[in-house]
Amino acid sequence: MSIRFDNRVAVVTGAGGGLGKAYALLLASRGASVVVNDLGGSRSGEGQSSKAADEVVSEIRNKGGKAVANYDSVENGEAVIKTALDNFGRIDIVINNAGILRDRSIARTADSDWDLVHRVHLRGAFQVTRAAWPHMKKQKYGRIVNTSSVAGIFGNFGQANYSAAKAGLLGFTNTLAIEGERSGIQANIIVPMAASRLTQDILPPELFDGLKPELIAPVVAWMCHEDCPDTGSIIEAAGGWAGKYRWQRSQGTLLMDDLSENITPERVRERWAQIVDMQGGDFPTSNQGATMDLVGKMEKLTSSP
Ligand code: NAD
Repeated sequence: MSIRFDNRVAVVTGAGGGLGKAYALLLASRGASVVVNDLGGSRSGEGQSSKAADEVVSEIRNKGGKAVANYDSVENGEAVIKTALDNFGRIDIVINNAGILRDRSIARTADSDWDLVHRVHLRGAFQVTRAAWPHMKKQKYGRIVNTSSVAGIFGNFGQANYSAAKAGLLGFTNTLAIEGERSGIQANIIVPMAASRLTQDILPPELFDGLKPELIAPVVAWMCHEDCPDTGSIIEAAGGWAGKYRWQRSQGTLLMDDLSENITPERVRERWAQIVDMQGGDFPTSNQGATMDLVGKMEKLTSSP
């Protein structure tokens, strides 16, 4: 059975180019009605234009698909979602993909560099998602894909603003997955690597040509589908490969031998190698699971003679 999105309505933010365009084209080719959102500004977030979104809408329509343009900034999430509701009557899928870069080393990062990057990536995803949420909740169905980055997971020189926003999206998505669970709303993260205007001077030229956004779009499409079982997952995709990240916590060690002892910095130094030894570490998947496991470890201390 082929993967279809008939009768589903999708909003793809930043869909005027790069990855978002590939997502919009693929979803529309599989039957979805798509809102092609794009502010049409520069790579660093200046200016605006309707051209990018219009061209993608034309391409979809010329191929027989259903699409409508929206030119609002994702900071105005209500207007983005209203376009879906006004034109197609519902909202099933949100792909928060819009993004800009203002790379500077930390000392050179101006307030405006920090704020605009956060407003587009993190606050924008929040605004669009919050606007869609009550509709998804009411219909007991929704699929949300947020866009992070290896910079958000590991950091990257010159990207304090971007990596902080992208890491924020990890926490945001985990909470959406928890809050959406009872309402049939699933939220996941895509960590892409693809040739686009954002990466044209970052990726090595020999890699650039092979990293087509079209190689990532099928992964994101599946993550938006009703049959995809995952929620709260971080999926990385690039150049025809896809995989998943997870957290690992070391077994750690108790810092006291019994409750009468004080913990000193010297004791922490003494046990540091055990604290950071990842051998035999576990992989907590929830707040509760991680906390209960910790409580179990602490109980060993209180129950010791
Ligand atoms: P891109 O520049 O081609 O696409 C981003 C789009 O977002 C642009 O069309 C832009 O006009 C639009 N946009 C910017 N600000 C907007 C706003 N306020 N409102 C609405 N639209 C806005 O870049 P891309 O590489 O396709 O990036 C897509 C997403 O993937 C971004 O979130 C980016 O951070 C993320 N990402 C990309 C890579 C990569 O390798 N390309 C790696 C990690 C993460």
